[in-house]
Amino acid sequence: MRKEWGLNNSSIEGFLGAMQREVDRVGVTGDDMLRLRLSVEEILLGYQEHFGEDTTVSFSVRKRCGYALVDILVSGCSLNLIDHPESLILIKVLHNWPNAPSWDYYNGLNRISYSVRLNNSLSDNLRFAWKYTGQNEAYLMLAVLLQLISVGLLIVAPVISAKIIVAFTQKATSQLILTAVMLFAVNIVSQVVTSGSNLAYNKLYNRTLTILETDISSTVLRITNQSFSSNGTGLFIQRLTTDTSNLANAFNTLADNLSQACQYIGILIAMCFVSPLVFAVVVVLMVVQTLLELNRERISQKNGRLYRNENERYTGIIGEMVRGAGDIKLIHAEPAFEDELKSRINSANDSRLFWYAKNLMYRLINSGVKETGSLIFITLLAILLMKGNLPVASVLILFNYYTSLGTPAVTLMGNILDFLTEMNLSCERLRALTDDKSFPKEIFGTVSKKDIKGAVRFENVRFSYNISKLNTSTRWVLYDMSFDITPGETVALVGKSGSGKTTILNLISRLYDAFSGNVFIDGINVKELDKESLRGCISVVTQTPYIFQMSIRDNLRIAKPDMTDEEMHRAASLACLDEEIEAKPEKYETIVGEGGATLSGGQRQRLAIARSLLKGCSILMLDEATSALDNITQAKIQQAIENIHGQTTIIMVAHRLSTVVGADRIMLVEGGRVLDQGTHQELMERCSSYRELYLMEDDNE
Ligand code: ADP
Repeated sequence: MRKEWGLNNSSIEGFLGAMQREVDRVGVTGDDMLRLRLSVEEILLGYQEHFGEDTTVSFSVRKRCGYALVDILVSGCSLNLIDHPESLILIKVLHNWPNAPSWDYYNGLNRISYSVRLNNSLSDNLRFAWKYTGQNEAYLMLAVLLQLISVGLLIVAPVISAKIIVAFTQKATSQLILTAVMLFAVNIVSQVVTSGSNLAYNKLYNRTLTILETDISSTVLRITNQSFSSNGTGLFIQRLTTDTSNLANAFNTLADNLSQACQYIGILIAMCFVSPLVFAVVVVLMVVQTLLELNRERISQKNGRLYRNENERYTGIIGEMVRGAGDIKLIHAEPAFEDELKSRINSANDSRLFWYAKNLMYRLINSGVKETGSLIFITLLAILLMKGNLPVASVLILFNYYTSLGTPAVTLMGNILDFLTEMNLSCERLRALTDDKSFPKEIFGTVSKKDIKGAVRFENVRFSYNISKLNTSTRWVLYDMSFDITPGETVALVGKSGSGKTTILNLISRLYDAFSGNVFIDGINVKELDKESLRGCISVVTQTPYIFQMSIRDNLRIAKPDMTDEEMHRAASLACLDEEIEAKPEKYETIVGEGGATLSGGQRQRLAIARSLLKGCSILMLDEATSALDNITQAKIQQAIENIHGQTTIIMVAHRLSTVVGADRIMLVEGGRVLDQGTHQELMERCSSYRELYLMEDDNE
């Protein structure tokens, strides 16, 4: 019986949540998931408008031949909202999407059918894994070759063992000694060859992991800030650690398991020579067990995917807890945080337990079937022996073969399937990171410019952080903003908090792109400049600069790898930090804690300023960079800024207006536009908003 929902707003939410969970289970991800959800939401709202809230809706999700088939059934008279969409949003969502739905009507039901191609077929995933493993093909070949030799030896061993038992029963001493020596030699060689193979597999794993992690990390660093801020850190950490490790192991485990499978195939062939009847029975038993294992794996994959999603949410909050520990304590948010943590741990644990318990249940059923198979096999051997159809030696060989085949072969099959499940899930997640639709990457232009002077121009720039959410009305942060800054000018951006000052800096450095209008540096559209020219000419010191857990010297060296000691001291002294560093016992070799935890807020900001000064740039942007500084240090920093005045374009987002009164120009940002601009004196005289802002600050101080 299908579950049905109504068409009021909360039912639609519930419907969408349930549908998304099912669709997620069959492996629809990223952009496809987003479009599916958005379009279904629009369609349901459309039916709600026409049929009212009492209409019922249901869905079904199936997986067939690499496609997810999703049917939405809406009761009521015939109404096609797909081909004649009334909503502009529906057109936008479905535009250029190869998986757009079809509509038909039967039996009082409007059926909207989606057929979404899944990009996670095993062959796609293996190809992806091979891109990395294939670079160390020689190790893989060596490991497999050695393992196959060992497999050959393992097939011979049961024959020798049977000969020893027969020699014992016949008291043939010389034959006994000869076969015992043979068995000894076979076992020793097999051990040596197996060790060599393991070593080669390990080397392969290490090298593949290095290539994979480096590649995925650099891919992650290219992901746009928009995408970073809408996905939690847990997602990236999980994928860069667990999933890369699973994938690096892909071909090792596969080759290892397949080599072992060769051993079992060899044994089966040998069995066929000894007794075709026994061989046939064993094959039937194994086919039954394999089918059961396949079923177990299919269910395990579904549940595993759910667990991974929950686990990413859990890792995300752990990351936030570690980073925000100080703030959590100060605002006494421990209880609320612990509740959230507990709920996410519980969800992750519940889904893991569910996954584990289901898997265990199927494994138990399968092992019952396996044991029944063993019983059938032994009974068969006993009958054949009693009837005189098989000699004792053959029975012994078959029994030896079965013991080294029966249990491990099916376990191996289970292991291979478990592994493929894990690998498929990891591949899906890593491929999503490299896929530009799920995680858009920064794209730079091709124009290379060395001697950038530092002119900045905004031309009718419109921007919103939520533009990609098609179903919300856009709230513009910047609205047709235009201004010009000349090279060497010092400009201060002032305005109320949230007025868009930081956003202006983000658009200059292209952490985000304008929705419409253009941003130019030296007359070149920032979208056309290559990465080197754009990011090379800009330095940004933010409110909360990130200081790495390394020495002060290394933190500075990041900005200029070939810096001399003299340059380092000069930058630190310009940023008024030199004396404080020299006063530390280990001076520039002092290791600062994670995120610069062992430095004061003011020291962190000055270290970041020193880093920017070292980098040397034509545009220096300070985003409330002096907010954590005391008056004396701030005065020194202002002196440092004064020192480079005229040589570098300086754009300052000012927290305290008093710190920027000396700027060449002050721009007052309000309502997404530059409301007024001029020197402090000019604005005080003619701009009431500016005067208000300035006087309010005066009052506060
Ligand atoms: P200001 O620097 O003037 O204080 P911002 O430029 O930081 O203001 O922010 C302008 C507006 O954009 C604010 O309403 C803020 O909440 C919003 N905003 C800033 N960053 C993001 C982001 N990453 N995602 C969504 N909204 C954002």
